[in-house]
Amino acid sequence: MDKTPEIRLELLSSDLEAIVGKGNVSISIFDRISYALDPMPYDLAPEEIPYAVVKPSSAEEVSEILKYANKHKIPVWVHGSGTALHGATRPKCKCIVLSTSRMKDVKIYEDHGYFECGPGVRVEELSDILEKRGYFLPLMPGSRPVATVGGGIAVNTSGHLVDSCIGKPSDYVLGLQVVLPTGEIIETGTKALRRPAGIDLTRIFVGSEGVLGVITKVRMRLIPKPNEEAQGVAFFKGCLPIARAVVRMYVERTPPPIFTEFMDEKCVEISFSSQGLQYPEESAVVMVRTMGYMPGEAKWKLKCIFNAFKKENPIEIRVVEDEHEWKQIWACREVVGSLITQKRGPAITGEIVPALPKLPDAMRDVMELPKKMKTVKNPEMYLYGHIGAPTIHLQLIVPTELTDEERKKFVKEVWEKTEALNIKYGGVGGEWGVTRYRIEFLKEKYGETYYNILLGLKKLLDPNNILNPGNLEGW
Ligand SMILES: Cc1cc2nc3c(=O)[nH]c(=O)nc-3n(C[C@H](O)[C@H](O)[C@H](O)COP(=O)(O)OP(=O)(O)OC[C@H]3O[C@@H](n4cnc5c(N)ncnc54)[C@H](O)[C@@H]3O)c2cc1C
Repeated sequence: MDKTPEIRLELLSSDLEAIVGKGNVSISIFDRISYALDPMPYDLAPEEIPYAVVKPSSAEEVSEILKYANKHKIPVWVHGSGTALHGATRPKCKCIVLSTSRMKDVKIYEDHGYFECGPGVRVEELSDILEKRGYFLPLMPGSRPVATVGGGIAVNTSGHLVDSCIGKPSDYVLGLQVVLPTGEIIETGTKALRRPAGIDLTRIFVGSEGVLGVITKVRMRLIPKPNEEAQGVAFFKGCLPIARAVVRMYVERTPPPIFTEFMDEKCVEISFSSQGLQYPEESAVVMVRTMGYMPGEAKWKLKCIFNAFKKENPIEIRVVEDEHEWKQIWACREVVGSLITQKRGPAITGEIVPALPKLPDAMRDVMELPKKMKTVKNPEMYLYGHIGAPTIHLQLIVPTELTDEERKKFVKEVWEKTEALNIKYGGVGGEWGVTRYRIEFLKEKYGETYYNILLGLKKLLDPNNILNPGNLEGW
């Protein structure tokens, strides 16, 4: 496919306006750039600047856009809010950006036990709507104020939630409406509460990162909000005892927490001091939240977990009763990534999800990672993440003096090193929409046949390679 076909922008704009109406297409250079940018620490290349941004309001309009794109061989990039951390929404060629921001309907069917929503509703907005009705949304990325539900389902992220407590979003998705890359509209799944047990295309589209279709409606099971929560913090001398404490939490069969987040010593210093909170000097922290439906259940769960943690000799461990204090403590974790970027400059994040017994070894290796870097000598590193999942996130500061090309090499090395650790320690992870940069990882982990099945699926559904093209082809 010619990746940069000659396009008359005004003509394209009026053709798209005929589908979605005036005011819903932009060819302004500012919009085209801002809808192509993502959190990656390097600039947009000229060939990545889209032709136009289009905002359909329905599956039918999405379908018309895709039929038009197929006819004229123009690639289309699906855009939720563009927060995927590993370049999933950064176009690889000139294209139309299809924003889901106008598809925001939410309908709650309490009698059926599910809700349906458009993909463009923001996670926090939906979570607030559900909470007011006594329900709980099993989708909790750190980006939830801006991230869309469509984006969350397209990458199948549970975010901060501990999978063993609550499962993945895919466990709750009863059905989807999807517009295939060729423009056909299909429905998957069921309206019954029991998910289809056999072959179910829902599971292919959840987590497909916009490569196989545009999700235009999500149907998810309603989960009653827990009646109570309990929370606490434990400070340890470094991250290794935290890793061991989490292993204990599982092997001692404690009831699973809903959140178990950790931060290393540097993150504690930067975030706790920003909130004006006290903390034991040079300590790493783990924050735990449990939930319960019965009186005393959440507190009992927390006690069981803390009993396991105590065997790893925390410097300080305590239940946090005061809701305001908890909000401040939790805010430390919520803002730490952005705080680091504000204070130390642009950064690149990585994700290692080891098999449980390997968590302490993986943590040790991650701590050694900066010393092994070649493109930048011993870069500054911060560690935090959903350790109860168990996930270790690392954030490496990109030296400001690097050129764009050097930044790309640095980012590539960080990912290669983190993927090598995922191979070594048996994990996969990948919640952030990372497939585009882990093709080599997928081939190494699962083999060429597995990868060729993915390519075959793409070819079957998207014969003209219109939707998010290149995201299954690697760097
Ligand atoms: C500060 C910050 C914190 C974050 N915290 C977390 C975290 O805790 N856990 C985590 O997993 N991630 C996290 N992320 C990454 C990211 O926010 C999530 O992956 C989020 O779910 C992406 O949502 P989005 O609306 O921004 O999707 P986008 O980034 O716009 O899209 C993500 C992918 O899905 C595709 N897509 C989007 N909408 C649709 C649709 N309707 N149909 C088909 N494909 C679609 C896109 O083409 C792209 O490939 C964080 C990011 C930031 C910046």
